[in-house]
Amino acid sequence: MDYLYLLATLLFVFGIKRLTSVKTCQSGNRMSEFGMGLAILTIVLVMARSGVINWGVIVAGILVGGGIGLVIAKRTPTTQMPEMVAALNGFGGVASALVAMADLLLNRALEVDGVGLKDLGVVPAVANPATILVGMVTLTGSFVAYGKLSGKKLTHPFAGSKRHLLHAGVGLAIIGLATWLVMTGSHAQMTIAVVLLALLSGALGVFLVMPIGGADMPVVVSLLNSYSGVAGAFAGFVIGNELLVVVGALVGTSGLILTQIMCKAMNRSLGNVLLGGMGEETVAKDAKDYKSIKSAGPEEVAMLLDGAQSVIFVPGYGLAVAQAQHVVRELADLLQKKGAVVRYAIHPVAGRMPGHMNVLLAESDVPYDQLWEMDRINGDFKNTDVVIIVGANDVVNPAAREASGPIAGMPILDVDQARTVIVIKRSLAPGYAGIKNPLFEMDNCLMVFLDAKEALEGIVKEVKELK
Ligand code: NDP
Repeated sequence: MDYLYLLATLLFVFGIKRLTSVKTCQSGNRMSEFGMGLAILTIVLVMARSGVINWGVIVAGILVGGGIGLVIAKRTPTTQMPEMVAALNGFGGVASALVAMADLLLNRALEVDGVGLKDLGVVPAVANPATILVGMVTLTGSFVAYGKLSGKKLTHPFAGSKRHLLHAGVGLAIIGLATWLVMTGSHAQMTIAVVLLALLSGALGVFLVMPIGGADMPVVVSLLNSYSGVAGAFAGFVIGNELLVVVGALVGTSGLILTQIMCKAMNRSLGNVLLGGMGEETVAKDAKDYKSIKSAGPEEVAMLLDGAQSVIFVPGYGLAVAQAQHVVRELADLLQKKGAVVRYAIHPVAGRMPGHMNVLLAESDVPYDQLWEMDRINGDFKNTDVVIIVGANDVVNPAAREASGPIAGMPILDVDQARTVIVIKRSLAPGYAGIKNPLFEMDNCLMVFLDAKEALEGIVKEVKELK
């Protein structure tokens, strides 16, 4: 059986390695799925051999859990994938916490009076409370993130030092409860400590994520993903399963690397995001207050594109909402045939989940060499004839260059340096950060107030007619 565990571990490791490149990520995903299938099968076989298996529970778990997962996955549109990822992180966390709680509450050895967790050794004494803490923080934090991603304005009841004091108080209470849980020799007291620890950890998850708003959610989602892995690794120690420790550690560390990448992309320090509660969840008063806006229709855009030698598309969240990835590719192909150099500029936090734009554009088979990351393409905007922004807003907002504000300091795509900028969006509504975008008022900017798919279909039609 150890060989099967080893094989599953290798499949996970190489699967994750393949996820690092757009070209190999699909096979990496398949590899990891196969590894997970193998891991589940091996665990079931191990349990069957040791005679502790309850086939009824196993089959019911697979049918009910797998069935619900299948229905949710099929029904979730790609625009709601970020919410689904947040929910899955939360479920991962609570699954680990429940394993630790069950291990404590159903453990016969701990039912003997005078015997406590401390008597079972250092590993259970550390791993059990840690799993409950991290698992419950992940559960509630993820569901607050879920709410924020689906547009709910959730704000923390306290601000500034009062908030820090509250968090410190809850943190101290958690340490106290965990110590009591480990030291007590009474099963009744341990049960109370487990329940209180779970509740307070859940409260801490809510308090930590509540104040983080605006543009900083990508960091939070990646961090919660990492936490779900850490909770899984601790749960592996609780039940003595090496594979779970390895897989949890892989998720934990890769989530942490992603968090670092997101912090770098947003020019934030992790401490600032977690403790400072940056980017409070508000919509600025002047968010729709624009003075000089020039708007255009598909026909004018097609005429502009007719003479363009270089075109850069900037996809954003609106591209996902409109499901315009196929028609954007169609327009890009048409322009290329007319001799223009066409590229896509990908901002690391465009959309609502890391890699969102890459996933969308891969759906329409956009060639990888046309996808340019922000750092590589930013110097080229000044030599570009036309930039077409499709449903992006915060990632091209020059307000980020100002000293304060929800997105201050965040690196943006320097689209305003191009000769002409076309922004396709339905209205002057703000993006996720809820602030005004001065780009829309600039002299070289033209707004196309339409749904992205509708606008691009119109432009494709007009470009074809110009031939
Ligand atoms: P934004 O959220 O800033 O803007 C999206 C724009 O799309 C809106 O202003 C909206 O304007 C427009 N839009 C919506 N639907 C349509 C449609 N059908 N057709 C055309 N336009 C549409 O998106 P960005 O991608 O620029 O920025 C991402 C933001 O999300 C950043 O603030 C980022 O920090 C945050 N975020 C990113 C995550 C990630 O991991 N990538 C996770 C969580 C948050 P209108 O309504 O007028 O059409």
